[in-house]
Amino acid sequence: MSNNENDDLLNDTSNLLSQEIPAGVDRRTFLMRSAVVGATAVMTGRVVSAQERNERSTADPPLAQDLNVVKKSKGPVLTTVDEFYKVGPGPSSSHTIGPMRITYDFYQRATKLPADKLAKATAMKVHLFGSLSATGKGHGTERAALAGLVGKEPATVDPAFLDSLRDKPDQVFPMKLGTASFDVSLKDVIYDATKGDFKHPNTMTVKLMAGNDVLLEQEYYSVGGGFIEWKGYTPPKKNAPKYPFATMKELRAHADNNKISIAKVILANEMSIMGRTQEEVYAFVDKIINAMTATVRSGLKMPENDVLPGPIKLHSKAATVYKRAMDDSYQSDRGIGALSAYALAASEENGRGHLVITAPTGGSAGVMPALVYGLIENRKVPLEKVRDGMLAAAAVGYLCKHHATLSAAEGGCQAEIGVASSMAAALVATAYDAESRVVENAAESALEHHLGMTCDPVAGYVQVPCIERCAFGAVKAWTAYAIASNEIASRHRVDFDATVQALAQTAKDMNSKYKETSEAGLALSVVLC
Ligand code: SF4
Repeated sequence: MSNNENDDLLNDTSNLLSQEIPAGVDRRTFLMRSAVVGATAVMTGRVVSAQERNERSTADPPLAQDLNVVKKSKGPVLTTVDEFYKVGPGPSSSHTIGPMRITYDFYQRATKLPADKLAKATAMKVHLFGSLSATGKGHGTERAALAGLVGKEPATVDPAFLDSLRDKPDQVFPMKLGTASFDVSLKDVIYDATKGDFKHPNTMTVKLMAGNDVLLEQEYYSVGGGFIEWKGYTPPKKNAPKYPFATMKELRAHADNNKISIAKVILANEMSIMGRTQEEVYAFVDKIINAMTATVRSGLKMPENDVLPGPIKLHSKAATVYKRAMDDSYQSDRGIGALSAYALAASEENGRGHLVITAPTGGSAGVMPALVYGLIENRKVPLEKVRDGMLAAAAVGYLCKHHATLSAAEGGCQAEIGVASSMAAALVATAYDAESRVVENAAESALEHHLGMTCDPVAGYVQVPCIERCAFGAVKAWTAYAIASNEIASRHRVDFDATVQALAQTAKDMNSKYKETSEAGLALSVVLC
């Protein structure tokens, strides 16, 4: 320790005391971490300023508090199925569907500029920041962003168009805005700073330029599951739900008090919030069910020697696993093998950048389709039961979004595969007419056993561990249903709301290296040669 009196840390403690708890950090965590850093300073004799202590105590940059996605615990759930289940190109809803929606939105805004301003336009520039920049290359974010700029929408884009951008990256596309015309290409999508003071880890800016002058600029955030926000975003106005709920406890109370299922509560809310008929809600859900079965079917058809795009050179294995599982002499092994193969099939489709369904995200897009396919194709469960299952699963996803996160960049893989598995458990329980308590218990159990799971995709590609992880998420969902439907439901000790809280807290505490940055875990330990 220093003998100089001026260096004595305990001489003047004013600089050691932090004045206030920074935004976005809970008091207890901050005080504990701050105390540890302070104690270390005293023991080692190293001066640590209050500012440095603040920085170290908030290891992860906090999300901006004015993001709508952060103001999640206020008011009833107002998310609807058409916002939640989105069809779009893989491999990551926040890195492909979100950015494509963002640049499409920007193009629409640009078209509304006055004609004299538009006439000066010479270029459009997209800047990717944070996680979008760190792992965007592996996700094809630049291709998705360019596709949105040239007017493609996620649900209808031909995956062959995105493949062609990968195979021929020098293509240029003419853009017409009013009387101005200029070319856009992948060179206009810039991988910018990976670290900085961003409102959200998935931040982008899009600019319309006139030479070096900016005619229009908008900052956007791809906040998970294909949802987007922008600076100054206000959520669209919606009607009040028939059965307002902000927790599973409230949701179940509506179901139990009205002697209806969780699915019927959600159906009534969908109708009241958006002013839709039952037929319209069901038509949308059926479209999603069909898209989910189609993605499993097309994944199973891929030949065994197919290699997924990217440096990992990962071979497809869904078809092989399925065929070999069918040869197994034990029926239970055939079931687990087939379910895993369905999840691998849909997830490999995601890895190819083909169309998938966010449930809740692209990375987790193998989980729900595996169960939907299994229920329909193997168990021959009637469509209306699967429909109800989809609505109950959506409720589970809504609550996780409302109180925690669906974004790996915010919460690691527990927020993707964990939520997907929880949704899938609710789907199966509902499809088998389980009472609301069993639906909750199944969803809780599946989520609980994914808590803490980090996101560390190798080389930034949503393949390893993501593809197999979908299979595990699907099997865990089935396990959760098996336990929930066979235990004494009232003795299930942990309620869903407590586990969602744990999800949110774990997301906050998780080291930022494990949040879709490819800077740790498998992304470091797996060596590609
Ligand atoms: S590790 Fe999980 S969260 Fe991360 S990209 Fe893969 S599936 Fe998504």
